Amino acid sequence: MSRLFELRCRECGKSYGYQPLSICDECFSPLEVFFDLDSLRGRVTRASIESGEQNMWRYRDLLPVPEDFTPITPSGMTPLLAAPRLAARIGAKKLFIKNDAVCLPTLSFKDRVVAVALANAPHFGFDTVGCSSTGNLANAVAAQAARQGLKTFILVPADLEPAKILNTQVYGATLVRINGNYDHVNRLCSQIADRFSWGFVNVNLRPYYAEGSKSFGYEIAEQLGWRLPDNVVCPMAGGSLITKIRKAFKELVTLGLVEDKQVKFFGAQATGCSPISTAVKKGTDIIEPQRPATIARSLAIGNPADGPYASRAIRDSGGWAEDVSDLEIVSAIQELAETEGIFTETAGGVTTAVTARLIAHGRIHPDETTIVCITGNGLKTTDALSGAYEQQRAIRPRLTDFEAYVEELSDKNTIFAGAETILSGAVDVR
Ligand SMILES: *Cc1c(COP(=O)(O)O)cnc(C)c1O
Ligand SMILES: [Zn+2]
Repeated sequence: MSRLFELRCRECGKSYGYQPLSICDECFSPLEVFFDLDSLRGRVTRASIESGEQNMWRYRDLLPVPEDFTPITPSGMTPLLAAPRLAARIGAKKLFIKNDAVCLPTLSFKDRVVAVALANAPHFGFDTVGCSSTGNLANAVAAQAARQGLKTFILVPADLEPAKILNTQVYGATLVRINGNYDHVNRLCSQIADRFSWGFVNVNLRPYYAEGSKSFGYEIAEQLGWRLPDNVVCPMAGGSLITKIRKAFKELVTLGLVEDKQVKFFGAQATGCSPISTAVKKGTDIIEPQRPATIARSLAIGNPADGPYASRAIRDSGGWAEDVSDLEIVSAIQELAETEGIFTETAGGVTTAVTARLIAHGRIHPDETTIVCITGNGLKTTDALSGAYEQQRAIRPRLTDFEAYVEELSDKNTIFAGAETILSGAVDVR
């Protein structure tokens, strides 16, 4: 390889060089970016990474971007936070939250994947880019394309959350609402990409997009002091992120940047759209598509492109997968906010509730180092909490009024009551 990476078929191994393509024309399997890690060994060191920018571009040697690429948008290097109060509630000890709810610039981990996909768009000559999206990807593509001066077409299921629609339109993107679910939208995007020669980040740019998720994994290892955790609990939609975190860890081992150890991967889905967790529980890589029905719309992909690979990665690693009800998702959003001060969207509720379940069921040992992947911000899915908090009456700006008010609240026993805890396992809600 003259370049240090190339596209290859995941199944038959056919090489495709460097072009905008995601499916093998021989065997119709997905293409993946492979790096020449032998050539990178010794060139990419802890020191070379640590001297880079405080964002995901510090790992650019391990990401597929053109040689002359200059980073435009700083994404990543989000906080890795110890979560002792959440840990105490769910019976764990060494819990960490990787908080991509605060990932620049559109508050979800999709900013990482879009950064890498769009880094390649000008190189391939695309002046128009787009995506099919369950919301967060739409926001990230619209924002970063605006900054790069690219035209943007975004296709979404018509019933998307209003905040995610507004968060796309504000950047000047053309938003096309489709009467159908994500899988319908995605199929249409493949046809459009062929017909119009546009760069669709999760269609013909998908192999590059997917590699952006590796930065989530590199950061975890670096932030743990160049060590790997014991467990990772990760939400799954298309199933790409979880496999790429694992790939990132393996690359760091190959490059000699971290010591090898077994890391168990745990997948999290909503019961209303759980094709991957269902496959894991059955012990198979064969995904049976589902029709999504859950409030966790960012995870609502009924026919996940990377589902078979996600299931295999989870089972090979010695991990497991679980799925939780909408009620558990809402409670987990509230409990994460109350214990750790982190307001996540529904996907984060899924991950938090699944983590609690895995600990309660003994799948995760409380003493082990466990990373909970929080991938999106709660301000985008406020409708999930509508009706959760009653508005109290307003009072006059007088101390006596306030005293009466506090009296009234304590009668009702609602001061600092917080959400009813489902995570602690006291209540089993289904
Ligand atoms: C897209 C998305 C995921 C899942 O990503 P996949 O790589 O498709 O599995 C998780 N969380 C949020 C908030 C997302 O938007
Ligand atoms: Zn092939």
